[in-house]
Amino acid sequence: MTQKRVSILGATGSVGLAAVDLIQGAPERFRTEAVAGGSNAAALAAVARTTGARFVAIADPGQYGALRAACAGLDAELAAGPDAVIEAALRPADVVIAAIVGIAGLASTLAACRPGVTIALANKEALVSAGPVVLARAAAAGATILPVDSEHSALFQVYEPTRAHAVASLTLTASGGPFRDWSTARMAEVRVEDALKHPNWDMGAKITIDSATMFNKGLELIEAARLFPLPEDRIEIVVHPQSIIHGFATYRDGSVMAQMGAPDMRTPIAVALAWPDRMETPVARLNLAAIGSLTFEAPDPERFPALALARAALRAGADRPAILNAANEAAVAAFLDRRIAFLDIAAIVAETLAAVPQGPAATLDDVMAADAAARRFAAAAINRRRAA
Ligand code: NAD
Ligand code: MG
Repeated sequence: MTQKRVSILGATGSVGLAAVDLIQGAPERFRTEAVAGGSNAAALAAVARTTGARFVAIADPGQYGALRAACAGLDAELAAGPDAVIEAALRPADVVIAAIVGIAGLASTLAACRPGVTIALANKEALVSAGPVVLARAAAAGATILPVDSEHSALFQVYEPTRAHAVASLTLTASGGPFRDWSTARMAEVRVEDALKHPNWDMGAKITIDSATMFNKGLELIEAARLFPLPEDRIEIVVHPQSIIHGFATYRDGSVMAQMGAPDMRTPIAVALAWPDRMETPVARLNLAAIGSLTFEAPDPERFPALALARAALRAGADRPAILNAANEAAVAAFLDRRIAFLDIAAIVAETLAAVPQGPAATLDDVMAADAAARRFAAAAINRRRAA
């Protein structure tokens, strides 16, 4: 078996560390070329040590000294700053795991688009904001994008492109998050600690808040429309609190192909890492008898306005998804900083979409301009709430 060279962008995060775990468990299959992280030098050095990465990049230039100290004795090239993260994406690799959170991961995802490279894409924000730009870059470069997001990995496994004409709809499942059955009045009082408690998945802070507001499912709806060429009204969302079925394709003949698995990101990461093969993972085998029952319910658009906002943004196209994503990133950061209330997140996204005039999103410059405009408006909306 030829070894695949893997680079991990966002290596110190929840997805990044899950990928490290898989790579460590299969040294005959993988060797690590580059790892990149944001600002935690000690965590990045630990990853560099366990993976034996040849190139280690930290985005925060102020952490270079700390990284050097923490990597003492390691035979690896060290670099710092946003350009170093791009360099990590450019190192020779067969698979690049794009697991940086937020629009911060866009530039390195684009840089990773090179001939023959498989991009295992966890960074959904890049695809939401700059979908056509990312997909065109990958196609032009001859790179393959494989989804790591569990629902999209599920759809990737059950959707046969050669039978696209036979697919009636695709469905993403949603856990519903920690506030699935809470009233709006109760959600108004939510504290950061409540929102960070996800019932099924252990994830980074930003996506955990997105799961609580259901913006995560809204972003995933747009992500699905980018990856699978189906119109918005044929991509559905169903709440499934056990997170065992991750997604399904409904064929025109009535057959439904679903993908199941324990809620553990190592499975979808393994699908992308080993593709087109499959690999062994330490993920617990699904015991359906022990689980007993799987339940489903329709999402509630009243209590979770994120879903309708995302659907409208997807329908409108152009820069609307980028505006939605940037406003949400700004609002989630403000909520985590305890500067706004939980329900303000969706309100700020809605206000930003209404206030920022629609523009194009055909080029990277367009997308970055839309992102900046949305953040300017959202920052002001956040400040108004703090003053109130
Ligand atoms: P996380 O917060 O745990 O990790 C984020 C990683 O990005 C860290 O390594 C951090 O150091 C790095 N980072 C942050 N800013 C950076 C910057 N400016 N430059 C370079 N690196 C930077 O997040 P996560 O939960 O692992 O999620 C990562 C991405 O994967 C997100 O887009 C998320 O939506 C997606 N995703 C995550 C999960 C999950 O289970 N955690 C599931 C599906 C999709
Ligand atoms: Mg997901």
